[in-house]
Amino acid sequence: MIEKNREETKENPGQSSNFIREIVDDDLRSGRHGSIVTRFPPEPNGYLHIGHAKSICLNFGLAFDYNGICHFRFDDTNPVKESTEYIESIKRDVIWLGFDWKDHLYFASDYFDRLYEYAVQLISMGMAYVCSLSSEDIRLYRGTLTAPGKNSPYRDRSVGENLDLFQRMRAGEFEEGEHVLRAKIDMQSPNINMRDPVLYRILKATHHRTGDKWCIYPMYDFTHSLSDSIEGITHSICTLEFEDHRPLYDWVLDVLKTECHPQQIEFARLNLDYTVLSKRKLNILVNNGYVSGWDDPRMPTISGMRRRGYTPEAIKNFCDRIGVSKREGVVDISLLEYYIREDLNRRAMRVMAVLDPVKVIIENYPEVKSEEIEAVNNPEDQSAGARKVPFSKTLYIERADFQEEPHKKFYRLSPGREVRLRYAYYIKCQSVVKDSASGEIKEIRCTYDPETKGGHSPDGRKVKATIHWVSAEHAFKTEVRLYDHLFTKGNVNETDEDADFTTNINPDSLTVLKTCLLEPSLREAKPGVGYQFERIGYFCVDSKDSYQGKPVFNRTITLRDTWSKIKKRG
Ligand code: ATP
Ligand code: MG
Repeated sequence: MIEKNREETKENPGQSSNFIREIVDDDLRSGRHGSIVTRFPPEPNGYLHIGHAKSICLNFGLAFDYNGICHFRFDDTNPVKESTEYIESIKRDVIWLGFDWKDHLYFASDYFDRLYEYAVQLISMGMAYVCSLSSEDIRLYRGTLTAPGKNSPYRDRSVGENLDLFQRMRAGEFEEGEHVLRAKIDMQSPNINMRDPVLYRILKATHHRTGDKWCIYPMYDFTHSLSDSIEGITHSICTLEFEDHRPLYDWVLDVLKTECHPQQIEFARLNLDYTVLSKRKLNILVNNGYVSGWDDPRMPTISGMRRRGYTPEAIKNFCDRIGVSKREGVVDISLLEYYIREDLNRRAMRVMAVLDPVKVIIENYPEVKSEEIEAVNNPEDQSAGARKVPFSKTLYIERADFQEEPHKKFYRLSPGREVRLRYAYYIKCQSVVKDSASGEIKEIRCTYDPETKGGHSPDGRKVKATIHWVSAEHAFKTEVRLYDHLFTKGNVNETDEDADFTTNINPDSLTVLKTCLLEPSLREAKPGVGYQFERIGYFCVDSKDSYQGKPVFNRTITLRDTWSKIKKRG
């Protein structure tokens, strides 16, 4: 019996069993496998997104839980779309998520020689042939879902001729599209994937790892099954769209009688509302300038989420929670956001920042004085301690925390009313000074009660609101960016593949605020560390546009889920 590393618990409900775990349990119990080997096989043709995180958590998670191994394999068979930039970003993201492939890093391109040998073997067995139809004709001959295909006129080439042509394809004697190598299976098969699928095509492209050694490249299904087999994978877990490819996966390994024949298991891919999870579509967003890059904080990429301030723990908790099933569905993005808030609430330091400042002058506070007010860093975590925040005669508060003629339900600052300044004093508004031309409020004149230091009144006098503030002479000005969902439409993924999904892009997904005033402790804030700006939301330092002493902040998420409320109302 294999010892499990992580058991299902109440606290860890995501670990509840799923159909893949049941398969693994059965295989270990029956002795079909002594231990398991899974793999995560990204194609380096873009950055990883949250859907990949689900696959990473599943494959690395299974290996960890069952004391097995998870291989990290780049499925790099299409040099035209792939690059080392993508390889490096994918590695960075897997590490950041907290997974360790140890020395199990592989590249499908390392198997090109062996794959070529396997192809030669198929030809020699009469199970593959060189086809010289144009790609257009191959498509026509393939038939449709309702009509059977037709045999290629090249299907009956002799083994000798096929071997010769394939060797010359490799030698670069032909142009792209002149010939392909196809499996000889069944043009009448109800499964289109089995109608003599292409195994190799000519591509005169330089590969990021093998250079110009090859001008023919193996196709996905052929490469994938054999790579799994070469590596001794036990469970080859992929998304549901590969279910119809499974007969081909099995055909390749059966015909070649490979020693290892992994079991392909399909699960439903993650779809999230208000975003797209397809590298092809994300590529369009990047290339057409809808976002600033793959790591734009609005992107559902791992790198975008990292820059936005999402934490690996929150992403992993989310992946655990959504679990694994065979049923396609769309997950509500507020579930992901719930896990982000939950994690940040636990770890984020509370600080004060005024995003839309208006000046407050405390008339009875000494001109030259300033003092240090003690502020709690995190009420959820005593060990986070406290810090000193400077207080002085001139402060800034949020413009929205003052109303000259308050609405019925407005309890914050207004003429004649007293409120608490967080951690500091009670203040009372005495008058306002307005710009004579525009009528805009320029300063709010208040008095403070020196007896209320720390924000408590010795006479038990109550106030209805507590507002945050910064000291004018100590605060620093910086840029803060507010992000919202990238799309205005819930189910972007369901829209017709050919329809232009960019028509649903949210024009207000980014708001840049240039005149925010932050408490001085934030000057030294480091990228990647999350803060709670009290009463506003969670923020983190942007890792690209900040420099020493001048951090720029990204809003990770609001404090409450205002979005789903709006959705319900709307
Ligand atoms: P995309 O459509 O975004 O390009 P892909 O499946 O082509 O995705 P790969 O790089 O081939 O991307 O994926 C690597 C692994 O991640 C595969 O095993 C794939 O099944 C899995 N994966 C990709 N997208 C999702 C998703 N949305 N949910 C779960 N797993 C996914
Ligand atoms: Mg793919």
